[in-house]
Amino acid sequence: MGVMIDIKENESLSKHTTFKLGGPARYLVAAKTKEDIIEAVNFAKEKELPFYILGGGSNILIRDEGYNGVIIKPQIGGVRIEEDRIIAGAGALLSQAMNMSIQSGLAGLEWAAGVPGATGGAINGNAGAYGQSMSDLVESVLVLEEDLNGNWIEKKYKMEDCGFLYRKSCFKDKENKKFIIETELKLRKGNKEESMAKIKDILTQRREKVPPQPSAGCVFKNIKSPDGKELIRAVGPLIQECGLKGVRVGGAEVSPVHANYIVNADNATSQDVIDLIKIVQEKVKEKFNMDLETEIVVL
Ligand SMILES: Cc1cc2nc3c(=O)[nH]c(=O)nc-3n(C[C@H](O)[C@H](O)[C@H](O)COP(=O)(O)OP(=O)(O)OC[C@H]3O[C@@H](n4cnc5c(N)ncnc54)[C@H](O)[C@@H]3O)c2cc1C
Repeated sequence: MGVMIDIKENESLSKHTTFKLGGPARYLVAAKTKEDIIEAVNFAKEKELPFYILGGGSNILIRDEGYNGVIIKPQIGGVRIEEDRIIAGAGALLSQAMNMSIQSGLAGLEWAAGVPGATGGAINGNAGAYGQSMSDLVESVLVLEEDLNGNWIEKKYKMEDCGFLYRKSCFKDKENKKFIIETELKLRKGNKEESMAKIKDILTQRREKVPPQPSAGCVFKNIKSPDGKELIRAVGPLIQECGLKGVRVGGAEVSPVHANYIVNADNATSQDVIDLIKIVQEKVKEKFNMDLETEIVVL
């Protein structure tokens, strides 16, 4: 017998992204359990439509045409602490996981202060800041995926099996059909006051560096060594040196605050952002002969 799931039709995706951009999803399902996810996938199959996984929508640009398929939002919440580990449902916000770890006297996740989105999305893109990233902390990731016989199975990936690289994981492939449902992070015993002071410091720095208008964070990946460990060139200054700060297409703008951010400054369309991305890529290629790869996903 099927599970009852909450299906919204023609749901505007601008409500589900931090860019506040994107046309409608033919269908959108908020999946609160694994069973909901499977039911949502089956629904997509019945309708012969593709599906796409969406987390907090903070690293994605959805086109103006929207998505002619089923957007599935894993909203499996819950964060719990087990000794020096934190276990977070994919739908739990990264900030919630961070706050809970600090409250429990655990250190290691402070860098995540101010990074929006859910833990599932953070694993998918191996989110990071201040030289640290999710992959430094991951113990294991629980995934819901389809086996060769078409059955949905739960599989636990150890850190080594997650294929983490700079802003990348094995879950972030072209198909992107594996649902991250739970993440186990290994932290260390810390000092609550020290952690709080660190977070305060980070948030102060971020207030100066992060533009206030709607965006999806840094648009382009920094240029790193092949193993992704060493920073070769930060992209923000490259874009700035091309004189692109403040340049606009329609309502989209290369932020005057941080050149690696494109912001929805004034009723932008997704196409405005896409056109502006292209301009930035062309100018940087022309001046520095470097190819900029987008960090944000364009759907
Ligand atoms: C103001 C601002 C500041 C930011 N600062 C940073 C920063 O400092 N460092 C950084 O790394 N990022 C930063 N970001 C980008 C973004 O917050 C992170 O990449 C975040 O981890 C994305 O999580 P999300 O849940 O919003 O993912 P989404 O944008 O919803 O999804 C991103 C990708 O992950 C996939 N995905 C999402 N959930 C799941 C799941 N449960 N299972 C499988 N796949 C899934 C989606 O299919 C998509 O391909 C910033 C963004 C903003 C708006």
